[in-house]
Order: sequence, then structure tokens, then C-alpha cells
Amino acid sequence: SGNNYAYATLLTSDSYLPGALVLASSLRAAFAQYPLIVLVTENSLSENALSALQRAYDRIVTVPLLRSSDAGNLELLGRTELDVTYTKLHVFNPQVTGADKVAFFDADAFATRNVDAIFDYVQGDVVFAAAPDIGWPDCFNSGVFVATPRADIFQGLVRAAASTGSFDGGDQGVLNDYFSGWASGVSRPGPSSSNHKTARLPFTYNVTPTSFYSYLPALKRFQDDISVVHFIGADKPWKGVRESDAFGGPEGPMQQFLTRWWNYYDAVKHVLNR
Ligand code: UDP
Ligand code: MN
Repeated sequence: SGNNYAYATLLTSDSYLPGALVLASSLRAAFAQYPLIVLVTENSLSENALSALQRAYDRIVTVPLLRSSDAGNLELLGRTELDVTYTKLHVFNPQVTGADKVAFFDADAFATRNVDAIFDYVQGDVVFAAAPDIGWPDCFNSGVFVATPRADIFQGLVRAAASTGSFDGGDQGVLNDYFSGWASGVSRPGPSSSNHKTARLPFTYNVTPTSFYSYLPALKRFQDDISVVHFIGADKPWKGVRESDAFGGPEGPMQQFLTRWWNYYDAVKHVLNR
């Protein structure tokens, strides 16, 4: 395809490497048409991790670490390790990827099928698309999004992060305040809100089964439409979770998601022990 698009993820520590490797494997297994780029922060990854990334990704781009240092709001979220996620804002810097559109996935997400159609949600005036966060559906979850990188947007976001900060201490709070018209089409007034046109991605592009509440009948009804599974929360699969009783037990969708994740991981994990 002639489109200058790219897939991207972020890795600021070795601890999320299993996720980044599985994400790449899952996109390649589904014949992703666009290059896979991993954003890394300087001097924060081991040699071993970098060489594993080199094999799994088409490009490694080093970006400066952006931290929120917002202990208060991150404690409210229960996730003080997420002060590094401001670094994700570099996806909006056109110089970082050089791509016209970027589909970003957290390292704890993986694709269950080809997701090239995700780029279609950003077209015309629309500069950003994301799916609802099930903890507060008027906010989008920033673990999966598509964006057109633009210098003015990048600057606006970095300025907002530095001045207003983030109501959750991470990138998701900054992005939701900036793209505040996402839920209703009407931009909420605020110090960092912009009038950019945004779109809603189908939830099937960011299914978050680890959340404390899930709508099981809907999960079953739309199971075959799921494109991306995202393990939000502190219990990532690579911490050892191979089995789950959630949602229908051993035959249920949660177990199927975990089994698929581990199949990808077991096939690539040898690179971690070189
Ligand atoms: N991340 C990372 N190292 C860390 C914390 C976060 O590389 O120590 C990156 C990684 O891409 C991760 C993303 O930032 O997927 C967001 O964090 P996380 O997925 O844990 O947030 P959640 O989806 O649980 O809110
Ligand atoms: Mn995540």
C-alpha cells in the first residue's frame, strides 16, 4: 500500500518488554501492512531488550522521557508507576515517526486479527480517534488510538501536560482534557481544551476484559468482532497469569484471550534469555 502510515508502541522499561514483543508478533501474524515502530526512552532499557526489539520492530525511535511527577493523582488511580506515560505524547510529534497517521497501541495490548482498517477512522478534519474507557465512558481509553501527528497538536499537548497537568496523573487525563469534545462533539471549556475534530473507535479495537466491570452478554455477542484485547490494570499477563476464572471460566472469552497472548509469548520468549 502507498499510504505513509505506521503502528507504534512505547517502552520505557524492560518490565513491559514481553507485552511489546507479543504486540509485534500479533500484528505480524495478522499481516499488518504498515511498519511497526517502538518508541523507547534513552538509557532505560537493557542491551538484551533493545536487541529483542530490533528483531521484532521495523524501527526503534529514542524519545526524551516525559514524566508527570504527579504522585497525588496517580495514587488516586492506584498506579504510581504510570508517571512515565506522558512520554506517549511524542506520538503526536510528526518528526518522531515521519508518518501521516499513527495507530498507537499500549504494550499490554495485542491484535487478534488484522487491524489495518483502524486508520480509516482518522480522515478529513478528524485528527484523533479512540474507544471509550469502560470506567468512565465519556472519557476515551488512551491505550489504543489513531492520530495524525502535527506540530501544533504536539506542542499544545506538551504545554497542557506541563501547565494544567493531568487529572489521572498519566497521558489519558491530558489527552481527554485536550480532546474534550470526543464524547459529545461539543468541546468542554477548559485551559487545555482544543476544538479539533475527533472520532470514536469501535470498542472492538480496545476491549479491556481485565476491568472490574464487564458486560458479559455483550462480550459474548460481539466476541467474533474483537480486533484488539488490552490488559489494563496492574495484573499484566507476563506477571504470570495464565489462567482466569473470569467470564465463563476455562471455556470463556477471558481464558481464550490469555491463551492467545501466551501462545505468542511462548513463541518469542527465547530471545529474552540470550
Ligand atoms: N509503560 C512502560 N513501562 C512502564 C509503564 C508503562 O513501557 O513502566 C508503557 C507501556 O507501553 C504501557 C503504557 O506505557 O502499556 C501504559 O501503561 P499501562 O498499559 O500499564 O497502563 P493501563 O493500560 O494499565 O492503564
Ligand atoms: Mn495499557
